[in-house]
Amino acid sequence: MADVDVDLFVIGGGSGGVRAARIAADYGAKVIVAEEYRMGGTCVIRGCVPKKLMVYASHVHQELQDAAGFGWTIPSAEFDWPTFISRKDKEIARLEAAYTTNVEKSGAKVIKARAVFEDAHALRLSTGERVTAKYILIATGGAPNHGTAIPGVEHVISSNEVFHLPQQPRSIVIQGGGYIALEFACIFAGLGSTVTVVYRGDNILRGFDEDVRNHVRAEMERAGITIVTGCTVSKVDKHGEGFDAHLSNGSKLSADQVMFAIGRYPNVTNLGLEKAKVETSSRDGSIVVDGFSQSSVPHIYAVGDVTNRVNLTPVAIREGHAFADTVFGNRPVRVDHSDIPTAVFTQPEVGTVGLTEAQARATFTHVDIYKADFKPLKATISGSTSRVMMKLIVDGLSDRILGCHIVGPDAGELIQVIGIAVKMKATKADFDATIAVHPTAAEELVTMRKPSVRYVREAAE
Ligand code: FAD
Ligand code: NDP
Repeated sequence: MADVDVDLFVIGGGSGGVRAARIAADYGAKVIVAEEYRMGGTCVIRGCVPKKLMVYASHVHQELQDAAGFGWTIPSAEFDWPTFISRKDKEIARLEAAYTTNVEKSGAKVIKARAVFEDAHALRLSTGERVTAKYILIATGGAPNHGTAIPGVEHVISSNEVFHLPQQPRSIVIQGGGYIALEFACIFAGLGSTVTVVYRGDNILRGFDEDVRNHVRAEMERAGITIVTGCTVSKVDKHGEGFDAHLSNGSKLSADQVMFAIGRYPNVTNLGLEKAKVETSSRDGSIVVDGFSQSSVPHIYAVGDVTNRVNLTPVAIREGHAFADTVFGNRPVRVDHSDIPTAVFTQPEVGTVGLTEAQARATFTHVDIYKADFKPLKATISGSTSRVMMKLIVDGLSDRILGCHIVGPDAGELIQVIGIAVKMKATKADFDATIAVHPTAAEELVTMRKPSVRYVREAAE
Protein backbone atom coordinates (compact mmCIF):
# COMPACT_ATOMS: atom_id res chain seq x y z
CA MET A 1 0.00 0.00 0.00
CA ALA A 2 1.62 3.22 -1.09
CA ASP A 3 -0.42 6.04 0.42
CA VAL A 4 -0.83 5.09 4.09
CA ASP A 5 0.39 7.25 6.98
CA VAL A 6 2.32 4.52 8.83
CA ASP A 7 3.53 0.95 8.41
CA LEU A 8 2.17 -0.10 11.80
CA PHE A 9 -0.47 1.35 14.08
CA VAL A 10 -0.50 -0.22 17.55
CA ILE A 11 -3.65 0.21 19.65
CA GLY A 12 -2.60 0.02 23.29
CA GLY A 13 0.66 0.94 25.02
CA GLY A 14 0.77 -2.04 27.39
CA SER A 15 3.09 -5.03 27.62
CA GLY A 16 2.36 -6.51 24.18
CA GLY A 17 1.86 -3.27 22.25
CA VAL A 18 5.02 -1.60 23.52
CA ARG A 19 7.23 -4.59 22.73
CA ALA A 20 5.75 -4.95 19.24
CA ALA A 21 6.14 -1.23 18.50
CA ARG A 22 9.77 -1.12 19.64
CA ILE A 23 10.85 -4.20 17.70
CA ALA A 24 8.95 -3.16 14.55
CA ALA A 25 10.57 0.31 14.73
CA ASP A 26 13.98 -1.36 15.20
CA TYR A 27 13.31 -3.17 11.91
CA GLY A 28 12.78 0.22 10.28
CA ALA A 29 9.00 0.40 10.27
CA LYS A 30 7.20 3.71 10.71
CA VAL A 31 5.14 3.10 13.87
CA ILE A 32 2.51 4.90 15.95
CA VAL A 33 1.33 3.63 19.35
CA ALA A 34 -1.94 5.03 20.71
CA GLU A 35 -2.57 4.77 24.46
CA GLU A 36 -5.79 6.07 25.98
CA TYR A 37 -4.78 5.90 29.65
CA ARG A 38 -1.18 5.51 30.81
CA MET A 39 1.83 4.07 28.97
CA GLY A 40 2.90 0.72 30.38
CA GLY A 41 -0.60 -0.72 30.48
CA THR A 42 -2.14 -2.96 33.11
CA CYS A 43 1.05 -4.63 34.29
CA VAL A 44 2.96 -1.44 35.00
CA ILE A 45 0.14 0.89 36.04
CA ARG A 46 -2.43 -1.31 37.80
CA GLY A 47 -1.24 -4.89 37.76
CA CYS A 48 1.95 -6.85 38.35
CA VAL A 49 4.29 -4.05 39.40
CA PRO A 50 2.23 -2.06 41.93
CA LYS A 51 0.80 -5.39 43.16
CA LYS A 52 4.28 -6.78 43.82
CA LEU A 53 5.24 -3.58 45.64
CA MET A 54 2.19 -4.14 47.83
CA VAL A 55 3.26 -7.74 48.41
CA TYR A 56 6.66 -6.49 49.61
CA ALA A 57 4.98 -3.96 51.93
CA SER A 58 2.71 -6.65 53.32
CA HIS A 59 5.51 -9.18 53.80
CA VAL A 60 7.34 -6.98 56.29
CA HIS A 61 4.76 -7.99 58.87
CA GLN A 62 5.79 -11.66 58.66
CA GLU A 63 9.48 -10.73 58.78
CA LEU A 64 8.87 -8.72 61.93
CA GLN A 65 7.03 -11.61 63.52
CA ASP A 66 9.81 -14.04 62.60
CA ALA A 67 12.44 -11.66 63.96
CA ALA A 68 11.46 -12.26 67.59
CA GLY A 69 12.41 -15.95 67.30
CA PHE A 70 15.88 -14.87 66.20
CA GLY A 71 16.36 -12.69 69.27
CA TRP A 72 15.24 -9.32 67.93
CA THR A 73 13.16 -7.02 70.05
CA ILE A 74 11.43 -4.62 67.72
CA PRO A 75 9.41 -1.79 69.23
CA SER A 76 5.84 -1.73 67.97
CA ALA A 77 5.88 -1.21 64.20
CA GLU A 78 3.35 1.00 62.41
CA PHE A 79 2.39 0.87 58.75
CA ASP A 80 1.30 4.10 57.10
CA TRP A 81 -0.85 3.46 54.03
CA PRO A 82 -0.71 7.00 52.52
CA THR A 83 3.11 7.02 52.75
CA PHE A 84 3.33 3.68 51.00
CA ILE A 85 0.78 4.61 48.32
CA SER A 86 2.54 7.86 47.48
CA ARG A 87 5.93 6.13 47.22
CA LYS A 88 4.38 3.42 45.04
CA ASP A 89 2.70 6.04 42.82
CA LYS A 90 6.01 7.85 42.37
CA GLU A 91 7.70 4.66 41.18
CA ILE A 92 4.83 3.86 38.81
CA ALA A 93 5.02 7.39 37.34
CA ARG A 94 8.77 6.90 36.82
CA LEU A 95 8.14 3.62 35.00
CA GLU A 96 5.38 5.15 32.90
CA ALA A 97 7.78 7.87 31.73
CA ALA A 98 10.46 5.26 31.02
CA TYR A 99 8.04 3.28 28.85
CA THR A 100 7.25 6.38 26.78
CA THR A 101 10.93 7.28 26.43
CA ASN A 102 11.92 3.77 25.41
CA VAL A 103 9.25 3.60 22.72
CA GLU A 104 10.27 7.00 21.39
CA LYS A 105 13.96 6.06 21.46
CA SER A 106 13.18 3.16 19.14
CA GLY A 107 11.78 5.67 16.64
CA ALA A 108 8.10 4.91 17.17
CA LYS A 109 5.70 7.76 17.97
CA VAL A 110 3.43 7.73 21.03
CA ILE A 111 0.03 9.40 20.86
CA LYS A 112 -1.91 9.79 24.09
CA ALA A 113 -5.38 9.09 22.68
CA ARG A 114 -8.02 6.43 22.28
CA ALA A 115 -8.04 4.82 18.85
CA VAL A 116 -10.98 3.06 17.21
CA PHE A 117 -11.40 1.50 13.80
CA GLU A 118 -13.03 3.59 11.12
CA ASP A 119 -12.43 0.91 8.52
CA ALA A 120 -9.97 -1.94 8.03
CA HIS A 121 -7.04 0.40 7.36
CA ALA A 122 -8.06 3.60 9.20
CA LEU A 123 -8.14 4.57 12.87
CA ARG A 124 -9.98 7.55 14.34
CA LEU A 125 -8.25 9.04 17.38
CA SER A 126 -9.99 10.79 20.27
CA THR A 127 -7.93 13.84 19.31
CA GLY A 128 -9.95 13.93 16.08
CA GLU A 129 -7.04 12.83 13.91
CA ARG A 130 -7.45 10.04 11.33
CA VAL A 131 -4.50 7.72 10.68
CA THR A 132 -4.19 5.05 8.02
CA ALA A 133 -1.87 2.08 8.40
CA LYS A 134 -0.57 -0.83 6.39
CA TYR A 135 -0.68 -3.12 9.44
CA ILE A 136 -2.67 -2.71 12.66
CA LEU A 137 -1.92 -4.43 15.95
CA ILE A 138 -4.70 -4.66 18.53
CA ALA A 139 -3.10 -4.82 21.98
CA THR A 140 -5.90 -3.38 24.09
CA GLY A 141 -5.61 -5.85 26.98
CA GLY A 142 -8.45 -6.73 29.32
CA ALA A 143 -10.63 -5.14 31.98
CA PRO A 144 -12.07 -6.33 35.30
CA ASN A 145 -15.26 -8.33 35.09
CA HIS A 146 -17.94 -7.38 37.61
CA GLY A 147 -20.17 -10.36 36.81
CA THR A 148 -23.93 -10.17 36.51
CA ALA A 149 -25.16 -6.90 38.00
CA ILE A 150 -26.17 -7.48 41.62
CA PRO A 151 -27.87 -4.78 43.69
CA GLY A 152 -25.21 -2.43 45.05
CA VAL A 153 -22.50 -3.49 42.57
CA GLU A 154 -21.61 0.21 42.23
CA HIS A 155 -20.16 0.04 45.77
CA VAL A 156 -17.76 -2.75 44.79
CA ILE A 157 -14.16 -2.01 43.84
CA SER A 158 -12.03 -3.97 41.39
CA SER A 159 -8.26 -4.28 41.03
CA ASN A 160 -8.35 -0.94 39.16
CA GLU A 161 -9.39 0.95 42.30
CA VAL A 162 -7.58 -1.08 44.92
CA PHE A 163 -4.28 0.65 44.14
CA HIS A 164 -5.68 4.09 44.94
CA LEU A 165 -7.72 3.69 48.12
CA PRO A 166 -7.24 6.81 50.28
CA GLN A 167 -6.88 4.67 53.37
CA GLN A 168 -6.26 1.06 54.26
CA PRO A 169 -9.52 -0.81 54.85
CA ARG A 170 -9.56 -2.29 58.35
CA SER A 171 -11.69 -5.07 56.90
CA ILE A 172 -12.32 -6.25 53.36
CA VAL A 173 -14.50 -8.86 51.67
CA ILE A 174 -12.99 -10.14 48.42
CA GLN A 175 -15.02 -12.23 45.99
CA GLY A 176 -13.07 -14.65 43.76
CA GLY A 177 -10.76 -17.59 44.17
CA GLY A 178 -8.14 -16.88 41.49
CA TYR A 179 -4.88 -14.96 41.17
CA ILE A 180 -6.09 -11.45 42.00
CA ALA A 181 -8.49 -12.28 44.82
CA LEU A 182 -5.95 -14.40 46.67
CA GLU A 183 -2.99 -12.10 46.11
CA PHE A 184 -4.94 -9.15 47.53
CA ALA A 185 -6.38 -11.24 50.35
CA CYS A 186 -2.82 -12.00 51.46
CA ILE A 187 -1.66 -8.41 50.91
CA PHE A 188 -4.39 -6.98 53.12
CA ALA A 189 -4.05 -9.70 55.74
CA GLY A 190 -0.31 -9.02 55.96
CA LEU A 191 -1.01 -5.31 56.38
CA GLY A 192 -3.29 -6.12 59.31
CA SER A 193 -6.76 -5.91 57.73
CA THR A 194 -9.43 -8.49 58.53
CA VAL A 195 -9.98 -10.42 55.29
CA THR A 196 -12.80 -12.67 54.11
CA VAL A 197 -12.61 -14.41 50.74
CA VAL A 198 -15.91 -15.47 49.18
CA TYR A 199 -15.58 -18.12 46.49
CA ARG A 200 -18.35 -19.81 44.48
CA GLY A 201 -16.69 -23.24 44.13
CA ASP A 202 -15.58 -25.76 46.72
CA ASN A 203 -11.91 -24.81 46.74
CA ILE A 204 -9.80 -21.86 45.63
CA LEU A 205 -7.38 -21.81 42.66
CA ARG A 206 -9.40 -23.99 40.33
CA GLY A 207 -7.17 -25.41 37.60
CA PHE A 208 -4.10 -25.63 39.84
CA ASP A 209 -2.76 -28.89 41.25
CA GLU A 210 -4.98 -30.20 44.07
CA ASP A 211 -2.10 -30.22 46.56
CA VAL A 212 -1.36 -26.58 45.72
CA ARG A 213 -4.99 -25.64 46.24
CA ASN A 214 -5.18 -27.37 49.60
CA HIS A 215 -1.82 -26.12 50.81
CA VAL A 216 -2.49 -22.48 49.88
CA ARG A 217 -5.90 -22.58 51.48
CA ALA A 218 -4.50 -24.07 54.69
CA GLU A 219 -1.73 -21.45 54.80
CA MET A 220 -4.13 -18.57 54.18
CA GLU A 221 -6.46 -19.83 56.89
CA ARG A 222 -3.49 -20.24 59.21
CA ALA A 223 -2.69 -16.56 58.55
CA GLY A 224 -6.17 -15.65 59.77
CA ILE A 225 -7.96 -15.20 56.42
CA THR A 226 -11.54 -16.52 56.41
CA ILE A 227 -12.40 -18.41 53.21
CA VAL A 228 -16.10 -18.92 52.59
CA THR A 229 -16.72 -21.40 49.78
CA GLY A 230 -19.81 -22.50 47.89
CA CYS A 231 -21.42 -19.07 47.75
CA THR A 232 -21.40 -15.69 46.07
CA VAL A 233 -22.03 -12.07 47.00
CA SER A 234 -25.65 -11.40 46.06
CA LYS A 235 -26.11 -7.80 47.24
CA VAL A 236 -24.03 -4.98 48.69
CA ASP A 237 -25.46 -2.22 50.93
CA LYS A 238 -23.64 0.91 51.94
CA HIS A 239 -24.00 2.04 55.55
CA GLY A 240 -22.07 5.06 56.78
CA GLU A 241 -18.43 4.53 55.87
CA GLY A 242 -18.74 0.77 55.42
CA PHE A 243 -20.63 -1.90 53.51
CA ASP A 244 -22.67 -5.04 54.10
CA ALA A 245 -22.03 -7.89 51.68
CA HIS A 246 -25.01 -10.23 51.59
CA LEU A 247 -24.09 -13.77 50.60
CA SER A 248 -26.11 -16.33 48.68
CA ASN A 249 -26.03 -18.60 51.76
CA GLY A 250 -28.13 -16.01 53.62
CA SER A 251 -25.34 -14.63 55.79
CA LYS A 252 -24.03 -11.06 55.85
CA LEU A 253 -20.50 -9.70 56.16
CA SER A 254 -19.79 -6.10 57.21
CA ALA A 255 -16.56 -4.55 55.97
CA ASP A 256 -14.84 -1.27 55.08
CA GLN A 257 -14.49 -2.42 51.44
CA VAL A 258 -15.94 -5.02 49.12
CA MET A 259 -13.78 -6.05 46.16
CA PHE A 260 -14.55 -8.36 43.26
CA ALA A 261 -11.74 -10.18 41.43
CA ILE A 262 -13.80 -12.51 39.31
CA GLY A 263 -11.84 -12.59 36.08
CA ARG A 264 -11.24 -10.15 33.24
CA TYR A 265 -12.77 -9.72 29.81
CA PRO A 266 -11.01 -8.84 26.53
CA ASN A 267 -11.04 -5.09 25.96
CA VAL A 268 -12.88 -4.77 22.61
CA THR A 269 -15.85 -2.64 23.66
CA ASN A 270 -16.63 0.12 21.13
CA LEU A 271 -13.38 -0.56 19.29
CA GLY A 272 -15.20 -0.58 15.95
CA LEU A 273 -14.10 -4.13 15.16
CA GLU A 274 -17.22 -4.67 13.06
CA LYS A 275 -16.10 -1.83 10.75
CA ALA A 276 -12.84 -3.67 10.13
CA LYS A 277 -14.63 -7.06 10.00
CA VAL A 278 -12.32 -8.55 12.63
CA GLU A 279 -13.74 -11.81 13.97
CA THR A 280 -14.28 -12.19 17.71
CA SER A 281 -15.02 -15.31 19.71
CA SER A 282 -18.68 -15.91 20.51
CA ARG A 283 -17.53 -17.51 23.79
CA ASP A 284 -15.69 -14.60 25.39
CA GLY A 285 -15.45 -11.74 22.87
CA SER A 286 -11.70 -12.19 22.43
CA ILE A 287 -10.10 -11.56 19.07
CA VAL A 288 -9.67 -14.80 17.17
CA VAL A 289 -6.06 -15.23 16.00
CA ASP A 290 -3.86 -17.97 14.56
CA GLY A 291 -0.46 -19.12 15.84
CA PHE A 292 1.14 -15.98 14.40
CA SER A 293 -1.42 -13.69 16.13
CA GLN A 294 -3.00 -12.89 12.75
CA SER A 295 -6.72 -12.10 12.93
CA SER A 296 -9.40 -12.96 10.37
CA VAL A 297 -8.31 -9.81 8.49
CA PRO A 298 -4.81 -10.55 7.11
CA HIS A 299 -3.18 -7.16 7.89
CA ILE A 300 -4.70 -6.93 11.40
CA TYR A 301 -3.01 -8.79 14.25
CA ALA A 302 -3.79 -9.02 17.97
CA VAL A 303 -1.62 -9.93 20.96
CA GLY A 304 -1.93 -10.19 24.73
CA ASP A 305 -5.01 -10.34 26.95
CA VAL A 306 -7.34 -9.17 24.16
CA THR A 307 -6.82 -12.61 22.60
CA ASN A 308 -7.44 -14.39 25.95
CA ARG A 309 -4.83 -17.08 25.37
CA VAL A 310 -2.59 -17.03 28.45
CA ASN A 311 -3.14 -13.73 30.25
CA LEU A 312 0.31 -13.02 31.63
CA THR A 313 2.68 -10.15 30.92
CA PRO A 314 5.63 -12.20 29.64
CA VAL A 315 3.25 -13.96 27.24
CA ALA A 316 1.91 -10.66 25.86
CA ILE A 317 5.50 -9.46 25.43
CA ARG A 318 6.53 -12.66 23.66
CA GLU A 319 3.51 -12.46 21.34
CA GLY A 320 4.22 -8.80 20.55
CA HIS A 321 7.85 -9.59 19.77
CA ALA A 322 6.92 -12.59 17.61
CA PHE A 323 4.44 -10.46 15.67
CA ALA A 324 7.11 -7.84 14.89
CA ASP A 325 9.63 -10.52 13.86
CA THR A 326 7.04 -12.18 11.65
CA VAL A 327 5.69 -9.10 9.90
CA PHE A 328 8.65 -6.69 9.87
CA GLY A 329 11.67 -8.93 10.47
CA ASN A 330 10.92 -11.38 7.71
CA ARG A 331 11.28 -14.17 10.29
CA PRO A 332 8.00 -15.97 11.04
CA VAL A 333 7.83 -16.81 14.76
CA ARG A 334 5.05 -18.85 16.30
CA VAL A 335 4.79 -18.46 20.09
CA ASP A 336 4.97 -21.71 22.03
CA HIS A 337 2.32 -21.53 24.75
CA SER A 338 3.25 -24.83 26.38
CA ASP A 339 4.90 -25.18 29.81
CA ILE A 340 4.63 -21.52 30.77
CA PRO A 341 5.86 -21.05 34.34
CA THR A 342 3.64 -18.89 36.51
CA ALA A 343 3.51 -17.62 40.08
CA VAL A 344 0.65 -16.58 42.31
CA PHE A 345 2.01 -14.02 44.76
CA THR A 346 0.05 -15.23 47.71
CA GLN A 347 1.83 -15.53 51.04
CA PRO A 348 3.34 -18.11 50.77
CA GLU A 349 3.82 -17.92 47.01
CA VAL A 350 2.82 -20.50 44.44
CA GLY A 351 5.18 -21.41 41.59
CA THR A 352 3.97 -23.84 38.99
CA VAL A 353 4.96 -25.13 35.57
CA GLY A 354 3.68 -27.94 33.38
CA LEU A 355 0.98 -30.48 34.12
CA THR A 356 -0.94 -30.93 37.34
CA GLU A 357 -1.20 -34.43 38.78
CA ALA A 358 -4.75 -34.76 37.42
CA GLN A 359 -3.75 -33.60 33.93
CA ALA A 360 -0.77 -35.94 33.84
CA ARG A 361 -2.84 -38.93 34.95
CA ALA A 362 -5.44 -38.17 32.28
CA THR A 363 -2.76 -38.12 29.56
CA PHE A 364 -0.05 -40.57 30.61
CA THR A 365 -0.41 -44.20 31.62
CA HIS A 366 2.50 -44.20 34.08
CA VAL A 367 2.77 -41.24 36.44
CA ASP A 368 5.12 -40.97 39.40
CA ILE A 369 4.49 -38.32 42.05
CA TYR A 370 7.30 -37.04 44.23
CA LYS A 371 6.06 -34.86 47.04
CA ALA A 372 7.60 -33.14 50.04
CA ASP A 373 5.68 -31.20 52.69
CA PHE A 374 8.00 -29.84 55.35
CA LYS A 375 8.76 -27.18 57.92
CA PRO A 376 11.48 -24.93 56.47
CA LEU A 377 14.67 -24.42 58.47
CA LYS A 378 13.85 -20.78 59.17
CA ALA A 379 10.59 -21.80 60.85
CA THR A 380 12.40 -24.02 63.35
CA ILE A 381 13.26 -21.03 65.51
CA SER A 382 11.17 -18.21 64.04
CA GLY A 383 8.14 -19.90 65.56
CA SER A 384 6.25 -19.72 62.26
CA THR A 385 3.97 -22.69 61.65
CA SER A 386 4.07 -22.18 57.88
CA ARG A 387 4.99 -25.25 55.81
CA VAL A 388 6.48 -25.67 52.32
CA MET A 389 5.12 -28.00 49.64
CA MET A 390 7.09 -29.21 46.61
CA LYS A 391 5.84 -31.67 44.07
CA LEU A 392 7.27 -33.21 40.91
CA ILE A 393 5.07 -34.97 38.38
CA VAL A 394 7.09 -37.49 36.35
CA ASP A 395 6.25 -39.63 33.33
CA GLY A 396 6.94 -43.12 34.69
CA LEU A 397 7.86 -44.42 31.23
CA SER A 398 10.20 -41.74 29.85
CA ASP A 399 11.26 -40.34 33.27
CA ARG A 400 10.51 -36.83 31.97
CA ILE A 401 9.46 -34.11 34.43
CA LEU A 402 5.93 -33.20 33.37
CA GLY A 403 5.17 -30.65 36.07
CA CYS A 404 6.53 -28.96 39.13
CA HIS A 405 4.44 -27.27 41.83
CA ILE A 406 5.83 -25.31 44.75
CA VAL A 407 4.14 -23.45 47.60
CA GLY A 408 6.60 -21.62 49.80
CA PRO A 409 8.87 -18.60 50.09
CA ASP A 410 10.26 -17.41 46.74
CA ALA A 411 8.33 -20.06 44.80
CA GLY A 412 8.05 -17.55 41.94
CA GLU A 413 11.84 -17.22 41.76
CA LEU A 414 12.33 -20.99 41.93
CA ILE A 415 9.81 -21.85 39.24
CA GLN A 416 11.48 -19.49 36.76
CA VAL A 417 14.57 -21.69 36.90
CA ILE A 418 12.72 -25.02 37.08
CA GLY A 419 10.81 -23.78 34.02
CA ILE A 420 14.04 -23.92 32.02
CA ALA A 421 14.63 -27.53 33.02
CA VAL A 422 11.07 -28.51 32.13
CA LYS A 423 11.33 -26.71 28.79
CA MET A 424 14.57 -28.60 28.12
CA LYS A 425 12.65 -31.83 28.78
CA ALA A 426 14.72 -32.69 31.84
CA THR A 427 14.21 -36.12 33.38
CA LYS A 428 13.98 -37.10 37.02
CA ALA A 429 17.43 -38.66 36.55
CA ASP A 430 18.75 -35.20 35.55
CA PHE A 431 17.33 -33.76 38.76
CA ASP A 432 18.85 -36.64 40.77
CA ALA A 433 22.25 -36.07 39.12
CA THR A 434 22.24 -32.45 40.24
CA ILE A 435 23.95 -31.97 43.59
CA ALA A 436 21.89 -30.15 46.19
CA VAL A 437 22.57 -26.66 47.47
CA HIS A 438 22.52 -26.93 51.23
CA PRO A 439 20.83 -25.69 53.36
CA THR A 440 18.01 -24.49 51.13
CA ALA A 441 14.37 -25.42 50.71
CA ALA A 442 14.95 -25.97 46.99
CA GLU A 443 17.32 -28.87 47.64
CA GLU A 444 14.20 -30.99 48.15
CA LEU A 445 13.69 -30.78 44.40
CA VAL A 446 16.84 -32.83 43.77
CA THR A 447 16.72 -35.09 46.81
CA MET A 448 13.28 -36.68 46.58
CA ARG A 449 14.43 -40.27 45.92
CA LYS A 450 11.28 -42.37 46.10
CA PRO A 451 7.91 -41.59 44.55
CA SER A 452 5.24 -40.88 47.14
CA VAL A 453 2.81 -42.56 44.79
CA ARG A 454 3.08 -44.34 41.46
CA TYR A 455 0.09 -44.57 39.11
CA VAL A 456 -0.09 -47.18 36.35
CA ARG A 457 -3.07 -47.78 34.12
CA GLU A 458 -3.85 -49.47 30.84
CA ALA A 459 -3.60 -47.23 27.79
CA ALA A 460 -7.02 -46.28 26.41
CA GLU A 461 -7.86 -47.95 23.10
P1 FAD B 1 -2.40 -4.26 28.77
O1 FAD B 1 -1.13 -4.27 29.51
O2 FAD B 1 -3.66 -4.29 29.55
O3 FAD B 1 -2.37 -2.98 27.83
C1 FAD B 1 -3.47 -2.59 27.07
C2 FAD B 1 -3.44 -1.09 26.94
O4 FAD B 1 -4.31 -0.69 25.89
C3 FAD B 1 -3.91 -0.35 28.19
O5 FAD B 1 -2.91 0.55 28.61
C4 FAD B 1 -5.18 0.38 27.75
O6 FAD B 1 -5.33 1.63 28.38
C5 FAD B 1 -4.92 0.53 26.26
N1 FAD B 1 -6.12 0.65 25.43
C6 FAD B 1 -7.22 -0.13 25.45
N2 FAD B 1 -8.07 0.23 24.47
C7 FAD B 1 -7.49 1.27 23.81
C8 FAD B 1 -7.88 2.07 22.70
N3 FAD B 1 -9.02 1.84 22.05
N4 FAD B 1 -7.05 3.06 22.31
C9 FAD B 1 -5.89 3.30 22.96
N5 FAD B 1 -5.47 2.56 24.01
C10 FAD B 1 -6.26 1.56 24.42
N6 FAD B 1 0.75 -10.90 34.86
C11 FAD B 1 1.92 -11.46 35.22
O7 FAD B 1 2.60 -12.05 34.37
N7 FAD B 1 2.39 -11.37 36.50
C12 FAD B 1 1.70 -10.73 37.48
O8 FAD B 1 2.15 -10.67 38.63
C13 FAD B 1 0.46 -10.13 37.14
N8 FAD B 1 -0.24 -9.45 38.06
C14 FAD B 1 -1.41 -8.85 37.70
C15 FAD B 1 -2.13 -8.17 38.68
C16 FAD B 1 -3.33 -7.56 38.37
C17 FAD B 1 -4.08 -6.81 39.44
C18 FAD B 1 -3.81 -7.62 37.02
C19 FAD B 1 -5.11 -6.95 36.66
C20 FAD B 1 -3.12 -8.30 36.05
C21 FAD B 1 -1.91 -8.93 36.38
N9 FAD B 1 -1.17 -9.64 35.43
C22 FAD B 1 0.01 -10.23 35.79
C23 FAD B 1 -1.64 -9.77 34.03
C24 FAD B 1 -0.94 -8.74 33.13
O9 FAD B 1 -1.08 -7.45 33.68
C25 FAD B 1 -1.53 -8.78 31.73
O10 FAD B 1 -1.49 -10.11 31.25
C26 FAD B 1 -0.76 -7.88 30.76
O11 FAD B 1 -0.73 -6.56 31.21
C27 FAD B 1 -1.39 -7.95 29.37
O12 FAD B 1 -0.72 -7.08 28.50
P2 FAD B 1 -1.47 -6.51 27.20
O13 FAD B 1 -0.42 -5.80 26.40
O14 FAD B 1 -2.25 -7.57 26.56
O15 FAD B 1 -2.51 -5.47 27.76
P1 NDP C 1 -8.95 -15.69 37.58
O1 NDP C 1 -9.49 -16.28 36.33
O2 NDP C 1 -7.61 -16.10 38.04
O3 NDP C 1 -9.97 -15.97 38.77
C1 NDP C 1 -11.30 -15.56 38.67
C2 NDP C 1 -12.02 -16.10 39.88
O4 NDP C 1 -13.34 -15.53 39.94
C3 NDP C 1 -12.19 -17.60 39.86
O5 NDP C 1 -12.05 -18.08 41.17
C4 NDP C 1 -13.61 -17.77 39.34
O6 NDP C 1 -14.24 -18.93 39.79
C5 NDP C 1 -14.30 -16.58 39.96
N1 NDP C 1 -15.45 -16.11 39.20
C6 NDP C 1 -15.56 -15.95 37.86
N2 NDP C 1 -16.77 -15.47 37.53
C7 NDP C 1 -17.45 -15.33 38.68
C8 NDP C 1 -18.76 -14.88 38.99
N3 NDP C 1 -19.60 -14.48 38.03
N4 NDP C 1 -19.14 -14.87 40.28
C9 NDP C 1 -18.31 -15.28 41.26
N5 NDP C 1 -17.05 -15.73 41.02
C10 NDP C 1 -16.63 -15.75 39.75
O7 NDP C 1 -9.06 -14.12 37.35
P2 NDP C 1 -8.48 -12.89 38.15
O8 NDP C 1 -9.50 -11.83 38.02
O9 NDP C 1 -8.03 -13.29 39.51
O10 NDP C 1 -7.19 -12.52 37.30
C11 NDP C 1 -7.29 -12.36 35.89
C12 NDP C 1 -6.08 -12.89 35.20
O11 NDP C 1 -4.98 -12.00 35.35
C13 NDP C 1 -5.53 -14.20 35.77
O12 NDP C 1 -6.22 -15.32 35.30
C14 NDP C 1 -4.11 -14.18 35.30
O13 NDP C 1 -4.05 -14.61 33.97
C15 NDP C 1 -3.77 -12.70 35.39
N6 NDP C 1 -3.07 -12.43 36.64
C16 NDP C 1 -1.84 -12.99 36.85
C17 NDP C 1 -1.18 -12.79 38.03
C18 NDP C 1 0.16 -13.43 38.23
O14 NDP C 1 0.77 -13.82 37.27
N7 NDP C 1 0.64 -13.53 39.46
C19 NDP C 1 -1.74 -11.98 39.09
C20 NDP C 1 -3.03 -11.43 38.78
C21 NDP C 1 -3.66 -11.65 37.59
P3 NDP C 1 -14.06 -20.36 39.06
O15 NDP C 1 -12.69 -20.82 39.41
O16 NDP C 1 -15.13 -21.17 39.69
O17 NDP C 1 -14.27 -20.12 37.61
